[in-house]
Amino acid sequence: MIRWIRKKILLNGPWAFDKHLLVTGDYVGHIQPSKVRLDHSSFWVQVFDLPLGMMGASTAEFIGNKLGTYEGYDSKGSKVSWGKFLRIRVNLKLNFPLKRVMKLFVEGAVCSVYFKYECLPTFCYFCGLISHADRDKFFCWFEFKTHYV
Ligand SMILES: [Zn+2]
Repeated sequence: MIRWIRKKILLNGPWAFDKHLLVTGDYVGHIQPSKVRLDHSSFWVQVFDLPLGMMGASTAEFIGNKLGTYEGYDSKGSKVSWGKFLRIRVNLKLNFPLKRVMKLFVEGAVCSVYFKYECLPTFCYFCGLISHADRDKFFCWFEFKTHYV
């Protein structure tokens, strides 16, 4: 029963508390708690505006590995996804900004695809990091320091 609950918690994330990301990870008995890296989390990412011929596993893996570490995609039992979007499970590094758009080259033409992240916790609209949110301000101090200091 505990293993089932553990698996359900790790696989069905991301989890949030008060709209802030709750990062979970596997417990490894020989690693010190201070050395446990909690800097990544798995998300379902919806990819919109993909050509129908690219709504399959190879595209899901390519885009997933560009965003982070590809973990799988939701095919609903079919080899090709026929919905409005391709749903990819990706393990994202939290110290990198979320990507909103990606340009793909398809048959010699540029194709822009758009991402929606399911169950997205609070994040900064300016720099795209999940680690902080500055909704009450009109700029991101982190982005300001990166570009101007
Ligand atoms: Zn920011």
